[in-house]
Amino acid sequence: MEARRFYLAGQAFNAQDVWLIVFLLASFAFGLLFLTSWAGRVWCGWGCPQTVFLEGIFRPIERLIEGNATQRRQRDASGWNARKLLLKVIKQIIYVSIALILAHWALAFFVPVPMLASIIRHGPAGHGVLFTWAMGLTALIWFNFAWFREQLCIIVCPYGRLQSVLLDKQSLIIGYDEKRGEPRGKKLHVVASDSPAVGDCVDCHRCVAVCPTGIDIRRGAQMECIGCAQCIDACDEVMDRLERPRGLVRYDSLAGFESTPKQVLRPRLFIYAGLSAAAALAVFLDVVWLRTPFEANLLREGGTTYVLDGTTVRDQFELHLVNKHVEPADFELSVIAPEGMTVVLPQPHLHLGSLESLRTPIFATANRAEVRGPFDLNVRVRDVTAGRERTLTGHFIGPPNPPSN
Ligand code: SF4
Ligand code: SF4
Repeated sequence: MEARRFYLAGQAFNAQDVWLIVFLLASFAFGLLFLTSWAGRVWCGWGCPQTVFLEGIFRPIERLIEGNATQRRQRDASGWNARKLLLKVIKQIIYVSIALILAHWALAFFVPVPMLASIIRHGPAGHGVLFTWAMGLTALIWFNFAWFREQLCIIVCPYGRLQSVLLDKQSLIIGYDEKRGEPRGKKLHVVASDSPAVGDCVDCHRCVAVCPTGIDIRRGAQMECIGCAQCIDACDEVMDRLERPRGLVRYDSLAGFESTPKQVLRPRLFIYAGLSAAAALAVFLDVVWLRTPFEANLLREGGTTYVLDGTTVRDQFELHLVNKHVEPADFELSVIAPEGMTVVLPQPHLHLGSLESLRTPIFATANRAEVRGPFDLNVRVRDVTAGRERTLTGHFIGPPNPPSN
């Protein structure tokens, strides 16, 4: 990161390749729009690291130590005692340990693992910046999973806010079958469940109790729903106990819940999929096809356009070369110049490390009497390692009027 060098999928990237990230993110974003329109918030429920880590690691640990949600709520409401303090301390120690692991894991994306391991072994002295990052990330992860939790989905995450424009009546969502569940009721309705006036929902609030964002799915699709499907499992358990069909709360589209015709393929799906594929294709074409394993730019040396030296005119150029191989590579330079011109190339053979860059001068001199106006000068850069070459064109400029003898 510090050197602005990035290695991914066997390719080396530098700061000039940042534009690729724009296309990659665009592809990912349109892909996410496609997925949301088609299958609702499956990303939130099954793919987002926030949900995956919370539901897969932190909450199971909490359940193991402090019991289920009801037991936790009761304990939180009760006064402090030695057992409550012990359970809370154990839980937080485990949370901080996991946050430390996750923070170092995240850092390993940017710092080579052997170097990171060595830094950990030698302590924070001498690695203040990295240590601050590690501790900052640990604190952030711990704060997020120990306390902030679903508030991130509801308050911070912009994707959650977009749900109302991304979903339509045909999108798959988690919902409550109002036709089947209403009128809801407790014991009285359970007994008389055969009656058409009585719905299958026994108003047990299990679906509300398990919901991490604390919403009641029976009130319809809501922005706070992260699609975790816990209310489905909870309601199915209740239906099993009551010997009623599962699926009172289930995955379905609004059209499905309203028993109106379903239409999976809609224009918006094709538009999102097409835009996602186009952006991904741009990255693919550049990385796999158009990309040269080196970057070369021919620039005019700053300061003067040309130098008059007796009967000659001299232009000075600078070739900026970047090796974009993941390994060191060799390059050869040559200049194709018009007859009569003298070209000095101080470094015709170059050896550069991965993502190493170099600026080398090129001096072109012509007889002043023969310079009638700007003309082209071609510099050929040959990548010996990859067998690729590029020709760059510079413009030789001299004084507007040659001297009259
Ligand atoms: S309503 Fe259901 S799916 Fe949505 S967040 Fe709550 S428990 Fe998860
Ligand atoms: S869990 Fe099912 S039966 Fe119980 S309140 Fe929720 S929707 Fe109704």
